[in-house]
Amino acid sequence: MKTALLTHADCLGHVTPDGHPERVARLEHILHALEALDLDRRTAPMVADDDLLRVHPEDYIRDIRAAQPAEGFTQIDGDTFMSPGSVDAAYRGAGAVVRAVDLVLSGEVPNAFCAIRPPGHHAETDKAMGFCLFGNAALGAKHALDHHGLARVAVVDFDVHHGNGTQDLLWDEKRALVITSQQMPLWPGSGRPDETGAYDTVLNIPLPPASGGAEMRAAYEAQAFPRLRAFKPELIIISAGFDAHQDDPLANLNWSTRDFAWITAELCKIADEVCEGRIVSTLEGGYDLNALAEATHAHVEELMKAAR
Ligand SMILES: [Zn+2]
Repeated sequence: MKTALLTHADCLGHVTPDGHPERVARLEHILHALEALDLDRRTAPMVADDDLLRVHPEDYIRDIRAAQPAEGFTQIDGDTFMSPGSVDAAYRGAGAVVRAVDLVLSGEVPNAFCAIRPPGHHAETDKAMGFCLFGNAALGAKHALDHHGLARVAVVDFDVHHGNGTQDLLWDEKRALVITSQQMPLWPGSGRPDETGAYDTVLNIPLPPASGGAEMRAAYEAQAFPRLRAFKPELIIISAGFDAHQDDPLANLNWSTRDFAWITAELCKIADEVCEGRIVSTLEGGYDLNALAEATHAHVEELMKAAR
């Protein structure tokens, strides 16, 4: 069986102002880098309202739809913009993750990567922020729990920024383990170890600026992997941000492309042990175009090795 790749041309229709790091070229570079790989290519559907409503209130969804401009840009917060194609892009992004969960849980594919934008892990219950509109990873987790009836799902977020949105959306969901590592201090400022969720199902792993792959590996081996193995999730969702890369302009961690391959391989190993290898990975950040393309390629290659 092959790793699935879910994407949609609508995700290129979300345009940001000149100079904005979260830009169309990110996804273009990734799709180009993945072109030669032997993947099960799927078109991402629009997310259903039922799935959005599991994590965002109706008012919020209506406000986001209403904020989309007919031309030009709307600024939602300090660094989050919408263009005429943004709603469709966000619906495809969330729809990709939900569809990937369906494909993996039905056994049609062993694992999947969603090449989508805008990203999702900063979107809180009723607040768009940090380039994100909908909480893609969290709504994928809720879909797996509520629609498919799973008892336990884990979200692992290795983006360099704190997955504050995922943490917020799953804060009081005892069936979801949220593990998020982040450079600290760094925007958005949250993600301290004492933020542990209503049921102690949130694990925050701060990493110091200028630290690299060795520190990351030690932290994951000491904290994240034992928690994952003990929780025994039936599905692992990865918030795959590649902005901890040493070449990334938005942060100061020094992970190499090999580190992204390593963490992916380790997560695949754990998924093999606890949940028949079931992984859904979704794109979050990563802002140096070449590093992003290379690290994403390495990440997807590890998913493919595990799928064999
Ligand atoms: Zn990020």
